[in-house]
Amino acid sequence: AKSRGRNNFQFFDATMDLRAARRLSLESSLRAALEREELQLYYQPKLDLISHRVVGFEALIRWHSHEHGAVPPDRFIPIAEETGLIMPIGEWVIDETCRQIAQWRAEGYDDMPVAINISLIQLTRTDLENTLVGHLHKHGIPSRLIELEFTESVLLQDFETAMDALQSLRRLGFTLTIDDFGVGYSSLNYLNRFPINVLKIDRSFVTSACEDQDAAIIVQAVVNLSHDLKLSVIAEGCETVEQLDYLKRIACDQVQGYLISRPMPAADVRQFLDSDYLY
Ligand code: C2E
Ligand code: CA
Ligand code: CA
Ligand code: CA
Repeated sequence: AKSRGRNNFQFFDATMDLRAARRLSLESSLRAALEREELQLYYQPKLDLISHRVVGFEALIRWHSHEHGAVPPDRFIPIAEETGLIMPIGEWVIDETCRQIAQWRAEGYDDMPVAINISLIQLTRTDLENTLVGHLHKHGIPSRLIELEFTESVLLQDFETAMDALQSLRRLGFTLTIDDFGVGYSSLNYLNRFPINVLKIDRSFVTSACEDQDAAIIVQAVVNLSHDLKLSVIAEGCETVEQLDYLKRIACDQVQGYLISRPMPAADVRQFLDSDYLY
């Protein structure tokens, strides 16, 4: 038993070394990613369930690394957050989103707000307001065209700082969304205190709503609660017609999901908007 324990330990150790090495290698590649222009934004449409029109997009970062291939954001965003690389990367996302909005406007498309995902560190350790306003001015676009998505954990980590930041962002005219609502912490206590505009129901509830009565009850309750609090409500991860019909039936305002469209590069957005996407 003793020797087996030691072998297990050695195996564990080697695995840890491999993972640590791979992580270090990802980290050093990520440091170079901005300069090498390996980052790109994809855009996923938000469909309004009353007008049946696309009323905005969410910007989602993509990294095509020369060394590692396509690395999903769930893998590299945590590394960026731990190393501080999220500051320049987050600012690049803001700049690129504003640039793209300005380009769509110049091309004559209807104004469509684009939502940006904001990390905790961006909210608490940088001057997010000034960064945003600076890039709005640079590209000549109004704040109403930018939505900011924060997860509950981001907002509850440091309540006072988050509250101050949200209040000034709201005053500046940005639309504020609570992302992934329903998982992790529960911010029911804070919902009516944070100056937010939109609740986004987490994909896990949407996925199970049509099979699981409890999930359906939660989704329905979140929609009602949002409306009672004068918030708009959007569901993410809608993949089937059944889910779409259900969300429509319970008066959810908007949906996002593969059923409407996967996130796509800016070049495909024009074609998408010009086509008769009908649901
Ligand atoms: P999120 O903000 O919750 O974004 C939704 C994720 O679900 C995206 O994954 C999107 O591609 C995916 N998705 C959309 N519709 C469907 C669907 O119908 N089915 C399924 N299975 N998935 C769907 P993605 O693009 O891999 O992003 C993962 C996470 O990475 C995001 O979760 C967000 O937390 C983070 N992230 C992405 N871009 C950024 C960014 O620019 N900045 C920061 N700080 N975080 C980002
Ligand atoms: Ca999001
Ligand atoms: Ca999510
Ligand atoms: Ca998320």
